[in-house]
Amino acid sequence: MSGLNLAQQEAVNFLHGPCLVLAGAGSGKTRVITHKIARLIQTGVEPKRILAITFTNKAAAEMRERAKGLIGREAKDVVICTFHALGVRLLRQDGAALGLKPQFSIMDTDDVTSILKDAAGGTTDSATARQWQWAISLWKNLGLNAAKAQAQAKDDNERVTARIMARYEERLAAFQSVDFDDLIGLPLKLLQDHADVREKWQRNLGHVLVDEYQDTNATQYELLKLLVGERGRLTAVGDDDQSIYGWRGATLDNLRRLPVDYPTLKVVKLEQNYRSTSGILRAANNVIQPNPKLFPKTLFSELGEGEPVRVVDCDNEEHEAERAVARFVSIRANGAHKDWKDFAILYRANHQARIFEQSLRKAQIPYKVSGGQSFFDRAEIRDLCAWLRLWVNTDDDPAFLRSVTTPKRGIGHQTLASLGSFASKYKLSLFEALFSSSLGSVLAARAVGSLHEFGRYVNDLEYRARQTVGADDARAFLTDWLKDIGYEQHLFDSEDNERVAAARWTNVLEFCDWMAKRCGGEIDDTAGASVASERKNLLEVAQTIALLSTISEREKDQNVLTLSTLHASKGLEWPHVILAGCNEGLLPFKLDDDDGRVGQANESIVQRLQEERRLMYVGITRAQRSLAVSWVKRRKKGREIVLGVPSRFIAEMALDQSTVKEDPREKLRALRAEFARKAADTAAAAAARTD
Ligand code: ATP
Ligand code: MG
Repeated sequence: MSGLNLAQQEAVNFLHGPCLVLAGAGSGKTRVITHKIARLIQTGVEPKRILAITFTNKAAAEMRERAKGLIGREAKDVVICTFHALGVRLLRQDGAALGLKPQFSIMDTDDVTSILKDAAGGTTDSATARQWQWAISLWKNLGLNAAKAQAQAKDDNERVTARIMARYEERLAAFQSVDFDDLIGLPLKLLQDHADVREKWQRNLGHVLVDEYQDTNATQYELLKLLVGERGRLTAVGDDDQSIYGWRGATLDNLRRLPVDYPTLKVVKLEQNYRSTSGILRAANNVIQPNPKLFPKTLFSELGEGEPVRVVDCDNEEHEAERAVARFVSIRANGAHKDWKDFAILYRANHQARIFEQSLRKAQIPYKVSGGQSFFDRAEIRDLCAWLRLWVNTDDDPAFLRSVTTPKRGIGHQTLASLGSFASKYKLSLFEALFSSSLGSVLAARAVGSLHEFGRYVNDLEYRARQTVGADDARAFLTDWLKDIGYEQHLFDSEDNERVAAARWTNVLEFCDWMAKRCGGEIDDTAGASVASERKNLLEVAQTIALLSTISEREKDQNVLTLSTLHASKGLEWPHVILAGCNEGLLPFKLDDDDGRVGQANESIVQRLQEERRLMYVGITRAQRSLAVSWVKRRKKGREIVLGVPSRFIAEMALDQSTVKEDPREKLRALRAEFARKAADTAAAAAARTD
């Protein structure tokens, strides 16, 4: 119980019923969860019967580490995961009851876009397909299927979307696939419709703990209820002021419903913030103050007044990035925090990262973009990886589906749907089914012919890849292959914007070059670094593709500065934070922009402003010791330069006017630090020459 205040102890010790910890930012809610896991194990609950649900995989990994610190090795058996990962578990174990193979595939957003385009006859542009995707996702989160969505469609637009949704559902079923929303929706259906499965899970779970409860949606709530059952052994922790996923269907109703659905609910409030100085906390409290209160809360800090919160006004975005770098260089040179991992720049939208990246590179500061896309998550790289996976393992159905349709080769969804049902009837993989002699009974000869041609091509690639050794041969092989399948043309055909297509093609070439180097032994597989190793054949290299995920894993704990969107910063903390782009139109995001999304949750402008305010509150409360908010006087908007207006949230922070301007000494300190660094570099270079 050490390291917990009385209220936290109360929540940790309440083991046998439903408990809600409702408290402001940085008050130790997540700490309650980790300590409660330890406490449950201490009282004899088997680790594998404890389920803790977090919002991201990263948060899950961090919680596991902390739990390990408290209880040691036993922590490894505790199930700590996101709602989506929990959904995968439920469906892999018991999805058969819904007619799903245990090795069902999960379609990512790109897969879904292309299935939707295909469902609409293939002539739709990506933007429309993404709007459908958005609408379908919202409907699914509201528990609507295509039929229900059709029945309650309000206009033609929604009726068309519902029709597309029906075709989309058919395709997913035929492909034995699910999308991200299904990972919540289908487990719910499973538990609702199958009492035996439901009872099994309820029996097996001793306690369920949920972090960031304010961002759960209606479907997740129902799922939780069924998992927990009558006994209600549930601990939820959350903060209504940090609910920032309303646009994805998260609802504060889940907070309101708990005391109604669980009359014995114990509510614990935490009031002390252990994260931030009083100055930072006051700014946060002032910003959130105008929002309506679901539950009244007060929050205080005993960490002292601390450095004043600074407002940095900049001429334009480049200037903003330079000043951010100068500020951090100065703080680092003069303060206690020397590690770059203690610094973060947060912003509203992904695209804002680029300009900071450029300045950080110029200043040679190591950084990572969190919440951004990793190279290996790019659609074009995933396309190529699907082909490589198929050479290695022809039974990989998702890889088969992606390869056979990317680029299109005249094998349509009807053919694939028939192949899919034939394969599941005879318990074959799609690739095995394709060569079955009785396939002709369900498919026309022409379709069978196309499938055979594809199958032979894959076998041939596999054979040749095995013979291809060394960088030069590999490069030639990969170039021929991409030409054969017409991949470059495919990129330019499927992307409306030519520059985007060209950038994608560059990524493809980079990837091929990287593969070739591995074949030549210029890069070692396991280290991923430039360590020379033996030459390999291309198939062996393709086999190690699975290791690629470990590359991004390794980046996890580097000592680097963080660039992150506000959404991705939830639950995290850094000693020094800059909130960039605090301009009207960015934060708050354009409020008047009604871009006609179909099925969008009916949020009014007032509600959107409240959510933006919560986002600002989340941002401010990430900072432990110092915080600066910056805005620009002129900003780029498309091709235009528009006058920037400081965010209303800056005024709402009600900072003391005498302290808001940036300290001019900072610039001087930054210059000194820069000078010292250059001098050190020169000295090091001179020393290296003498050696
Ligand atoms: P958020 O709302 O941002 O998710 P939170 O309420 O989950 O925040 P934590 O991340 O658990 O808060 O805690 C914030 C910081 O305060 C952490 O660094 C944590 O270690 C520290 N902390 C929490 N409780 C205590 C305590 N009782 N004594 C000392 N430090 C604490
Ligand atoms: Mg937390």
